[in-house]
Amino acid sequence: MYIMVINCGSSSLKFQLISFPEEKAVAKGLIERIGQDSGAQFTLTAGDKGFKKQPVDASNHTKAVTAALNALTSGECAVLESKNEIKGFGHRVVHGGEKFCAPVIIDDEVIKGIEECNELAPLHNPANLIGIEACMKALPGVPNVAVFDTAFHQTMPPKAFHYALPYELYEKDHIRRYGFHGTSHKYVTKTFAELINKPLDEVNVVTVHLGNGSSLACVKDGKCVDTSMGLTPLAGVIMGTRCGDIDPALVVYIMKKKGMSPDEVDTLMNKKSGLLGFSGVGSDMRDIEAAAKENNERAALVLEMWAYSIAKYINAYVGTLPKIDAVIFTAGIGENSPGLRKIICENCAGMGIELGGNNDNVRGETGCVSADNSRIPVYVIPTNEELQIAQGTSALLKQ
Ligand code: ADP
Repeated sequence: MYIMVINCGSSSLKFQLISFPEEKAVAKGLIERIGQDSGAQFTLTAGDKGFKKQPVDASNHTKAVTAALNALTSGECAVLESKNEIKGFGHRVVHGGEKFCAPVIIDDEVIKGIEECNELAPLHNPANLIGIEACMKALPGVPNVAVFDTAFHQTMPPKAFHYALPYELYEKDHIRRYGFHGTSHKYVTKTFAELINKPLDEVNVVTVHLGNGSSLACVKDGKCVDTSMGLTPLAGVIMGTRCGDIDPALVVYIMKKKGMSPDEVDTLMNKKSGLLGFSGVGSDMRDIEAAAKENNERAALVLEMWAYSIAKYINAYVGTLPKIDAVIFTAGIGENSPGLRKIICENCAGMGIELGGNNDNVRGETGCVSADNSRIPVYVIPTNEELQIAQGTSALLKQ
């Protein structure tokens, strides 16, 4: 059987078709510029076949889903004999608020619940809902499952998720730490448990997801007990374009001093800060590393700031856990840059982390990168959010 994983944005539709029981992605696609005057574009890879940015009739998301299904069942990239082989859609939904702590089969009640979380993720949840409705229309009768980015973090205790603000803001407006990238943190935790052959509920790790957006999770007995992102994905470590943790009074200070509106300061902190804003070079870590090597001082400094901001979280989380099995690096930077893992670990000197020679080799594959005498083992585990969504969907549909 096949599960189709959907990650829907306001004008884009990313999908993967995953086969079970092999758990293999047999096709990956992206339809962009949905509903735009310039016309939508379709990119698809299916095994060794595929095409890039082909014009496609996708003036709305339902048409985009239909185009994706047609490409999977006919033409040169066909991998299915019939759409009936798709037994479920698994949707990435960014915000599940306090309501959703696990994947759920989508019905009217769930749609209402997701809508109620719209104000917490105004750029993402409405788009995710459009994708859900598009799939319901394109393939009626096939179940849809929602898998939430926030769900894994719902096990955080109150001492970790509350902000010390007036309590009404939590009670009435649901203002608290939620955390994101939960699907990734869960996937690497579970994969690590399998790797070292330990029951998931006995695993204690700090997971370090370093991509364009970055976050850490502190996992005790297989459950998340703290995470670095907050009400929004702006909090925590320094990221590609986001500033991460700052003095909250800075927001008002900058607004007054620069005469900025709330939206302008929001853009400043989310899109014009981080590696990009400080270095002036760009948001892509490879560009920052290259500039630092060429003696660009601000690029070199922001790299140090970035590594230190991550190391502080690792130190804090390891310090709160009674025991620890590993620190796990994942996502674009975490998986692919031995040099940056090294700088981060050098900032964790008190923890007795010793990286091994293997750290230089492990790129984009699973492995232990610490030395035998390291007090805390360090692993690299490539994340696979789509597979985690497909697994969550498949498990629910089997029940
Ligand atoms: P996201 O899913 O958040 O968009 P990714 O997990 O794909 O991001 O990570 C993107 C980041 O990974 C970019 O900053 C990119 O520069 C970085 N990256 C990818 N490969 C490497 C590498 N070999 N060395 C350093 N950084 C890398």
